[in-house]
Amino acid sequence: MEPHVVVIGAGFGGLNAAKALARRPVRVTVLDRHNYHLFQPLLYQVATATLSPGDVASPIRWILRGAPNVRVLLGEAVSVDTAGRRVRLEDGSLLDYDFLIVATGSSHTYFGNDQWAPCAPGLKTLEDALEIRRRILLAFERAERETDQARRQELLTFVLVGGGPTGVELAGTLGEIARQTLRHEFRSIDPRRARIVLVEAGPAILPSFPRNLREAARTALHRLGVDVREGTAVTAIDQHGVTLGRERLAAGTVLWTAGVTASPLVRTLGAPLDRPGRVVVAPDLSVPGHPEVFVVGDAAAVLDRHGRPLPGVAPVAIQQARHAARTVLNRLRGRPGAAFVYRDKGNLAIIGRGAAIADLGWIRFSGVFAWLFWLFLHIVELIGFRSRLVVLVQWAVAYVTFQRSVRLITNVGRSDRSEPS
Ligand SMILES: Cc1cc2nc3c(=O)[nH]c(=O)nc-3n(C[C@H](O)[C@H](O)[C@H](O)COP(=O)(O)OP(=O)(O)OC[C@H]3O[C@@H](n4cnc5c(N)ncnc54)[C@H](O)[C@@H]3O)c2cc1C
Repeated sequence: MEPHVVVIGAGFGGLNAAKALARRPVRVTVLDRHNYHLFQPLLYQVATATLSPGDVASPIRWILRGAPNVRVLLGEAVSVDTAGRRVRLEDGSLLDYDFLIVATGSSHTYFGNDQWAPCAPGLKTLEDALEIRRRILLAFERAERETDQARRQELLTFVLVGGGPTGVELAGTLGEIARQTLRHEFRSIDPRRARIVLVEAGPAILPSFPRNLREAARTALHRLGVDVREGTAVTAIDQHGVTLGRERLAAGTVLWTAGVTASPLVRTLGAPLDRPGRVVVAPDLSVPGHPEVFVVGDAAAVLDRHGRPLPGVAPVAIQQARHAARTVLNRLRGRPGAAFVYRDKGNLAIIGRGAAIADLGWIRFSGVFAWLFWLFLHIVELIGFRSRLVVLVQWAVAYVTFQRSVRLITNVGRSDRSEPS
């Protein structure tokens, strides 16, 4: 029988590993705890009511329908027995493998302050995005009914903790919602008076971008009314806001956009981990001592040629997955594996309508052209013609009318604070 390759996770890494192994002389099993592949770069648009969940997620089974040697299983892996070459699933069943590619990604971490989670949801899953959307829209609704001025301002204050690309995207879009989308729709409150604060503990927001682009992003955020606080650490979060050292900021909505930790599954591989819990893999992306096991994407710690860790972004996961799949095929032909080399094609971040920054290495630019470039790339990379078409139309409508068509509040009566997102 042909060798069995198990791929855990069908995110950017797992999906591309499976595609690279399609129609090759191997049997492939793709295991994911969801039945869909999620296009995370557009998740914040679900959280801010521009896109629907179905626009940014596609069934894994459908994506891989043309690969007869690939089967897709819905299930959660709970541990890997590297000695016995078996994956244990949540229901106790076992999956034997000859080769294993682990692409289970990452989740957010509260740096040991897990009690903050119910007060400050992070953005990683579709459920997170819908919960954030619910909280943002409810905050305006509650403020409209509130008669106490201080409480009303608290409800209209939004704090984002973490000034990476996700924090910047969310802050910029919130600024647009408050200043443009909702402008004429309330009678007791003026949504334009909403306060949006982006807090970054490090010296600057968007640390992976050069200084001039960071400055352009800061200017664009200020234009949207976002208060950017750099070099400011959040020391406490509770139901009514955040504490920033000695300062208290009353806020009805706090969102967590800082801190990433690798998926807990990789701890069961028995391999060395770095501080964020990623597996320190060998140069060919295999687990030291286990040439048949590979870790790719957000769950792997790989250094670039300057000795800096590669960022947790989709192109890294995609290129690593293809490399791991190639190495498996090479091993089967008796050829040695090669070291992984990342080809960095650049870095992009969007701030809002007509505002983005782009660092392509050989050229850096910001403003409308960077924004158009961002739109183009994300449309091209979305999976499926339907998603591309729908997203294109939604964006065009949002651009012309300033409207966000998915402003639905579900679970209106649910408590915001008692349940983790
Ligand atoms: C809000 C947000 C915005 C982002 N924006 C950008 C951007 O603009 N550009 C960019 O390049 N990158 C962006 N990223 C980062 C990018 O999405 C990740 O780097 C990329 O998804 C990593 O790919 P991966 O395959 O390692 O993990 P993921 O894509 O996260 O996939 C992991 C998969 O594993 C599955 N899984 C996890 N654990 C288990 C288990 N135990 N058993 C079974 N299945 C499991 C999950 O369901 C998931 O399908 C963003 C991320 C987020 C959260």
